[in-house]
Amino acid sequence: MADTATPTVIRRADYAPPAFLIDTVALEFDLVPERTVVRNTMRVRRNPDASHAAHFELMGEQLEFVSATIDGTPHSAVRTHAHGLSVDNVPDAFELTLVSVCNPAENTTLSGLYVSSDNFFTQCEAEGFRRITYFLDRPDVMATYTVTLRADKAAYPVLLSNGNLLDEGDLPDGRHFARWEDPFRKPSYLFALVAGKLVKLEERVRSGSGKEKLLQVWVEPHDLDKTRHAMDSLINSIRWDEERFGLELDLDRFMIVAVGDFNMGAMENKGLNIFNTKYVLANPETATDTDFANIEAVVGHEYFHNWTGNRVTCRDWFQLSLKEGLTVFRDQEFSADMAGGATDEAARATKRIEDVRVLRQMQFAEDAGPMAHPVRPESYVEINNFYTMTVYEKGSEVVRMYQTLFGRDGFRRGMDLYFKRHDGQAVTCDDFRHALADANGRDLAQFERWYSQAGTPRVTVSTHHDAAQHRYRVTLSQGYGDAAPAARDTQKGPLLIPFALGLIGANGADLPLRLEGETAAQGTTRVLEFTQTEQTFTFVDVAEKPLPSLLRNFSAPVIVEYDYSAEELAFLLAHDSDPFNRWEAGQRLATRELLGLAARAATGASLQLDDSVVNAFARVLTDETLSPAFRELALMLPSETYLAEQMPESNPAAVHTARQFVRRRLAEALKNDWLAIYERHQTPGDYEATPEAGGHRALKNLALAYLAELADPADVVRLAGAQYDAANNMTDRSAALSALLTAAAASDGRRAQAALEDFYRRFEKEPLVIDKWFALQATQRGSAQRPVIDIVRALMSHPAFNLKNPNRARSLIFSFCAANPAQFHAEDGSGYAFWADQVIALDALNPQVAARLARSLELWRRFTPALREKMRSALEKVAAQVKSRDVREIVEKALG
Ligand code: ZN
Repeated sequence: MADTATPTVIRRADYAPPAFLIDTVALEFDLVPERTVVRNTMRVRRNPDASHAAHFELMGEQLEFVSATIDGTPHSAVRTHAHGLSVDNVPDAFELTLVSVCNPAENTTLSGLYVSSDNFFTQCEAEGFRRITYFLDRPDVMATYTVTLRADKAAYPVLLSNGNLLDEGDLPDGRHFARWEDPFRKPSYLFALVAGKLVKLEERVRSGSGKEKLLQVWVEPHDLDKTRHAMDSLINSIRWDEERFGLELDLDRFMIVAVGDFNMGAMENKGLNIFNTKYVLANPETATDTDFANIEAVVGHEYFHNWTGNRVTCRDWFQLSLKEGLTVFRDQEFSADMAGGATDEAARATKRIEDVRVLRQMQFAEDAGPMAHPVRPESYVEINNFYTMTVYEKGSEVVRMYQTLFGRDGFRRGMDLYFKRHDGQAVTCDDFRHALADANGRDLAQFERWYSQAGTPRVTVSTHHDAAQHRYRVTLSQGYGDAAPAARDTQKGPLLIPFALGLIGANGADLPLRLEGETAAQGTTRVLEFTQTEQTFTFVDVAEKPLPSLLRNFSAPVIVEYDYSAEELAFLLAHDSDPFNRWEAGQRLATRELLGLAARAATGASLQLDDSVVNAFARVLTDETLSPAFRELALMLPSETYLAEQMPESNPAAVHTARQFVRRRLAEALKNDWLAIYERHQTPGDYEATPEAGGHRALKNLALAYLAELADPADVVRLAGAQYDAANNMTDRSAALSALLTAAAASDGRRAQAALEDFYRRFEKEPLVIDKWFALQATQRGSAQRPVIDIVRALMSHPAFNLKNPNRARSLIFSFCAANPAQFHAEDGSGYAFWADQVIALDALNPQVAARLARSLELWRRFTPALREKMRSALEKVAAQVKSRDVREIVEKALG
């Protein structure tokens, strides 16, 4: 327990270069599930840029040490300890061979070398390589690797590692081997091996310069019929990176492997990406439109890491956003280009809206709690806890702001300079910023604060129209409001905020924009560079009082405060030329209304919905000039979680009551419109995975979801039941099942029960679909007679439930604790008691997954007093029993 009693804090300020460097690594594996022997031969030399060290210190965890040899001679000046191995009496340059043993069969952490469905896989980021062999397991130590795999041929016919296959052949006793070489220097976190019974979809393509590339997607045999979309996504990713950034695939062979037991989404190991099956496997029967889109995004993300992460990597883990923020930005742009090309702004906007919704719902919440940290954190206890919304999603917004400031071409110039300077190096976020600044002739010193300040900035806007002078003044001021303590300490001064704005005339058209001092108007959207605590921008030639459209396309990750009236928001929703802000106006209107109703619901007062809100929504619903995908997004109300966070004291029950009330009112008031939409947006015939067809399905299924809220659900039970039976794709089938579950609250629920049973039988052999079956039940409405916690507890003993499988744990436990707020936050505290039991159980198996679950109570201080106290006791219970450093860091910060 030595390392859990007093957690060691790692600080960015303490960075020091490694005392030794490792140039080459030759690994030999004798793969046996309970006892794998690893022989590791390294060329080591002292680092000329570091101070002299007496010992050579290597990291190692859960390893059994066998032997050490230096330059061919057994070396006895070796000491193992809790964190690894210390080697004495080393020359300035030497060859070190270490032999050790690990136990992949018993490795439930899914970090290091482990077994899943009788196959071997590795996961090394961030610090898993030290669980495979003793090493300088830090990203600024880059080496070339040669890997020899030996295993039983019948049990493990396929043997894969990074790079190119050098040699393979048979060995005595039914064994065989394969030898791989990766020509590129890489940090240890990018090492990977896979061994087992796998089959592949294979394709050869030519890259931009005409070289032939071998692409493979490896899966278990019964999944081969679900690999086409991942392969297409990979081919599209390769093309896109050539076209948009001039970046070519640098290896002859690129492999993707799917594994069912995986802690996160996927991993960008050099030339051998390893993926959660959830982000590879898809066909129309098993995967929804959202799954198809996520697969495209994640395949792109991991592929794009080949340049942003692998060719140029991170100096230390504080620089994580250097690769993650940049690569999320790249995958977001890829998805937007795939949906709408460079010019279809409406199609691009749907992707932008989805991304911003995630940012606001998840990252803003993170920034408001005890885990708030800058995009480039200053300290951590467990690095796995810092693969966060802030590092990924806010990090992506920070990268996007360079593009907003310099344009696509200026951003491209900066990227080109970044690779010219740093290819093959391990660098920092400052290096990236300097490349962008230098390529565009700009000083970006102030922009550094986006990397060092935590918390969500607030921009307050006030406007003044001078009718006599035809001038319009926009005054912006920035601050952080009452930021969380964790964020407050990091704040030093104003940010450089690219603030995109337009002005709309009474006829709904954009006004040409001319700032004071300019000779002529320039366009109808201007990106203001807002750099001071308070700053005024004056527009001239503004005859009539305009309506401002603020922060167009969400040009910075901030909260905008401006006192719009309900009429003004309805006007923006109907007219703004910026599709993002059209959506935004609807969200503001709905949020304001819902928060008012939630406040009343909290006191037990009666609820009423203003007709103007119903009318504004009706106009969007029936506006045939808007794409179905956009209408679906605009008509979806803000989530309960997001709304609860906007209350002075989060009250999930009141929010639920208010939101349900509005959903039912919109369902009743617009019933005929919903029915018409439901009929009009059917997609008969073969399933098509296009954005257009997906948009029709999304809007049609939203209509079905609203209809399921009707007080008398008889009609919708019939519609949803028929849709369930006739569906030729998972989007429609799962939406129908979900509507049946919703309607079950107001009916006898027999139709829902029958569909649930059918769904299970139909998809029993498809784990990813069974995950959906668990998740749909965990997130269902529930009632006083039938609280969802009872259903969840019963499902925990279902034969298909397995706590060791992260996807399954997420589908049942996380869905309930993080995606069903009204039921999870039940007054009696039963949700919290369940949460504590599951965190403790997972902590013993898989600390990374346990720590994610542990985070679902971190905003406890913001809740109503009664809930707050119950949450505190649950946190204290976990704190008293936790074993891992991962969970300890989370609960200690929460209790702080
Ligand atoms: Zn990534």
